[in-house]
Amino acid sequence: MDVLSIGCPDAHDLQHFIEKMTEANLPIRSLLFINPRMAELKNRAPLMEHLGHPVEERVLLPASYITTLTFRSKDRKAVMDGLENLLKLCQAEILSDRIARHEWKNRFKLMVVKRLGPSLVPAEVVIPLSALGDFMSEIEHRINQPIVKEGVIIRKSASGKPEVVILGYIPSDERTFSYNFVFSLSLTIMNIAEKHGGRAYSTGLYCAKKAEEVLGKERLARLKTFKKEIDPKNILNPGKVIGDGLLGTAVSLGGFIEPLVRPFANYIITQIGERPSEGVRDIPADIAWYAYSCSQCGYCIEECDQFYGRGWESQSPRGKWYWLREYMKGREKWNQFMVDTILVCTTCELCNLRCSASLPIEQSWMKLRGQLVNEKKKMTFPPFEMMAAALRKEGDIRAAYRRNRTDWFPQDLKEKHGPAHLAKSVYFAGCTASYVENDIAMTAVRLLDEVGVDFTYLGEPENCCGTPVLVAGLWDDFADVMKKIFRPSRISVQIPLYRRVPPVI
Ligand code: SF4
Ligand code: SF4
Repeated sequence: MDVLSIGCPDAHDLQHFIEKMTEANLPIRSLLFINPRMAELKNRAPLMEHLGHPVEERVLLPASYITTLTFRSKDRKAVMDGLENLLKLCQAEILSDRIARHEWKNRFKLMVVKRLGPSLVPAEVVIPLSALGDFMSEIEHRINQPIVKEGVIIRKSASGKPEVVILGYIPSDERTFSYNFVFSLSLTIMNIAEKHGGRAYSTGLYCAKKAEEVLGKERLARLKTFKKEIDPKNILNPGKVIGDGLLGTAVSLGGFIEPLVRPFANYIITQIGERPSEGVRDIPADIAWYAYSCSQCGYCIEECDQFYGRGWESQSPRGKWYWLREYMKGREKWNQFMVDTILVCTTCELCNLRCSASLPIEQSWMKLRGQLVNEKKKMTFPPFEMMAAALRKEGDIRAAYRRNRTDWFPQDLKEKHGPAHLAKSVYFAGCTASYVENDIAMTAVRLLDEVGVDFTYLGEPENCCGTPVLVAGLWDDFADVMKKIFRPSRISVQIPLYRRVPPVI
């Protein structure tokens, strides 16, 4: 699959460009775009980090409408030939390959701009492609707040004509009263979309009254009949998707007073670019910031080991951020269930990779563990306590004797790589390979020997690396382990200081 990014100076040019491309029937597989404000905020958004260090490169985007399209590699010539004239006609230009790859790779990470809010007011609409330029221009004209937008093109909608699904967000701050005014601007965007032949993107609690426009008359009638049959008492999701819920009614009424509220909303000055400054209650500043930055998109849920094992949303990153927000508002307090919820995370870090806002999720739970267990002396799990006791006494987490730590080491390699041998590199086996999965350690040393690596082995003084007590929040124990490991030595040691590092030399 090939990817290409194209920059257009304004929304009418963008519309023109996409229309021409659609008419020419170029073999494009997908087409999405962002507006200049989104490009600007993406340039300012924090990069994904690991342990406080950026783990991705900054790719600066031009302040233009950036369209990213994909096509099969074998169609490259057809696409490039087709685009040649269109680009000139629409004052568009092809952007660097670096930008194209970056935009495609991060296509699900739009919510990273929420880190600048730290909240977003959403507005999701569908409009005809033929109205794109006018729709965008009218929004710029009527709304003073910065609006970031992303659009996806539907080449052939139900009506047979091309449509654009637009997700718009206004950075704001839900902790302030003025947020309510800014929120009303989502109605302004909806009104503009409807004026240009568009509609709400979906129903839900807020737009249940617009179900007919969104779903169509015939489908809505079928849904209502079905709902009546299987849920006559309207127990399941009342007022959501279809029906007359209070929120839907309030939103409908809000549409009428929108022109009155809009001047106030436009008057509010939005500070973009918040950074952690001070903690909230006893939540550290950075974690408080992340909790508000979580968009609740849910991308992390299915990936989460903890959620997979327990099945409740409270056990997912989204659930935990939500709970922390409630806690910071004073509506929740710590209990052992919530302490366990933070402790039970497996530290797999899949959530960090998946998060649409690039939040350092696992590291945040790690920080809270230390705070809860080490500082506040909350209880941890019995197995963690047993591991820590064994570590303190015998230097391992498997409740085994130190004198048996070297039992696994192959006798025939003792002279060449045993503790008496001096070498610049050390093979560190760790507790699990030393006491439980001996085959890992034995295979590793045999492989190293086979390929001619000169290494030694610490033998009985080898100690647990400390990871289990680190993730259990028992940080005093972890500090003790670190002091043991880093005491002056006559050899240089390479050991797995952090989790998920297999035994290495
Ligand atoms: S690191 Fe923890 S919270 Fe994140 S996906 Fe893994 S188990 Fe879930
Ligand atoms: S933590 Fe989960 S719900 Fe929150 S922004 Fe990241 S992926 Fe979305």
